Amino acid sequence: SRKMTIRVVLDTNYAELVLDVGKVTFGEKNRKKMKDCQLRKKQNENVSQPVVALLNSGGVVCRAEIENENYSYEKDGIGLDLENSFANIVSFVSKYLDFMQQGKCFLIFVKSWSSETSGLRIATLSSNLYKRDITSVKVMNATAALEFLKDRLETGEGFSLIPKSPPKRYRFDVQEESSMKALAADFFNRMQLRYREKLTFTESTHVEMKDYSTEKLLQRIKDILPQYVSAFANTRGGYLFIGLSEKNQEVTGFKAEKSDLDKIEKEIEQCISKFPVYHFCIEMKKINYSCKFLEVYDEGSLCGYVCALKIELFCCAVFAKKPNSWHVKDNQVMQLTVEEWGQLMLDPEPNFSRSFEEMNLQQSMLSPIPLDWSLYKYKNLESQEQRYHLTVPSEKVTYVPEILYEKLFSQHKGLAQLIHNEIGSVHQGTLIFSKSWSLDLGLQENQKVICDALLIAQDRPPVLYTFLRELNKELKGYSIQTALTLKKKLVKIGGYSGKVCVMTKIYWSEESSTLTEGNIRLLHDSSLSAIYPKSYTLITTQIMSDLKKALFIVLKRLGTLNDQFDSEIS
Ligand SMILES: [Zn+2]
Repeated sequence: SRKMTIRVVLDTNYAELVLDVGKVTFGEKNRKKMKDCQLRKKQNENVSQPVVALLNSGGVVCRAEIENENYSYEKDGIGLDLENSFANIVSFVSKYLDFMQQGKCFLIFVKSWSSETSGLRIATLSSNLYKRDITSVKVMNATAALEFLKDRLETGEGFSLIPKSPPKRYRFDVQEESSMKALAADFFNRMQLRYREKLTFTESTHVEMKDYSTEKLLQRIKDILPQYVSAFANTRGGYLFIGLSEKNQEVTGFKAEKSDLDKIEKEIEQCISKFPVYHFCIEMKKINYSCKFLEVYDEGSLCGYVCALKIELFCCAVFAKKPNSWHVKDNQVMQLTVEEWGQLMLDPEPNFSRSFEEMNLQQSMLSPIPLDWSLYKYKNLESQEQRYHLTVPSEKVTYVPEILYEKLFSQHKGLAQLIHNEIGSVHQGTLIFSKSWSLDLGLQENQKVICDALLIAQDRPPVLYTFLRELNKELKGYSIQTALTLKKKLVKIGGYSGKVCVMTKIYWSEESSTLTEGNIRLLHDSSLSAIYPKSYTLITTQIMSDLKKALFIVLKRLGTLNDQFDSEIS
């Protein structure tokens, strides 16, 4: 199924996408005791698939209801099977995942996937792309899959399938894999075999033998076919013989009626036609294979068959089944299609730091960029005499943009003092005012909002302050949406790769339209209810500067950067 029955939680104080994954048993002892293995596996999938989806969709929170009574994270831990799944998804679990128990809820905080070291643009549970490594068939891990796709794309290895004639060799006694393939090809072309006839070749990169008895033959073929076809098609082709004993190096065959053979052939055809493929070529050929049955004779009479399957090298990539990778789309956890997965895997990596420097360079060469329209208006309207001079801002926190906050402070006499109280304990930081942060981020503006201010400071997560003209509880959603969008854009556009959360704090005015001292009330403070792991809230000077850099890129890209903020951070 491409969809999951995982719910997006809407009534949350987190400025995050929160996914509810249902009931899960936690703790190594408790998970070991689970009698229902299917349920255990299902729960594991219900947690690991959303984790992958969250990694691929900007990072978020995965919420599970703890099924077992008296569970304590500190005493009982998580459970090995879950831990293995997590370790399988990311190379360093603690870099991406944080775990927290809140009463009956177990929260997994998932940081957005970053490609900086691995070169992988997305997280994948299993590529379902197989390769042949000498005599074994293995699923490619994400790194191997990327290397494989890149090789195929760059060299176009599969594109020209015309065999080049091998150089002639004389007198040397040389044995190599290609000669085994040639022997297998000769064998494939035969019509009749002798029972217990000795084989002249063994298993290799291009040859696999299976000695199955008649019982459940069809089912066993169906079971192994996806991985062998995928592996051979991706690794220069090969032969799969069913009815040869690798151990004894001889022909065994299986007993079957003519009608059984038809059934097997049909099943193979159906099976192969369903394998997902990803093309980057123009021809977009189908998987090329041939299937035949070699008759096995014992002292002149027909005693069985060998099923011989020849799989040609494929032009692009053949999957055993759709890659096991997920994302959040339209508020649903969805499995990526083969095309989506292939494109994301091969998507050239954006170089954020370079684009940052390029933009700075452009900035210095070009005339100043157009200002935010609202600032433009202020600049023209405001005369020097009207300016309201303050003894604050403090030296510890820089307020920007000057024109805007001075205007706001003069209109709303209570604002300066409130801000002063708010940032009293901040050692270092920047407070960025805006008529509407929502508008700056490309969202809808709301007329009930007087202004917003974003605090990026040391030792605390960024806070988005929103000041309302009236009491309006619905605007909590507006504020959370803005914070969520900001976080996503910092990661996706700004290239910020660390853990980050944005807190929201909303004030409203009792006196409508203006904020004067004594009429400002607090409506909401997410820091009281949205509890984050420590690694999300410890903002060092370096993180602070990275955040500002990412914010600069976001605003620049969205065309809403104003010159004062620009000069403050660059
Ligand atoms: Zn192709």
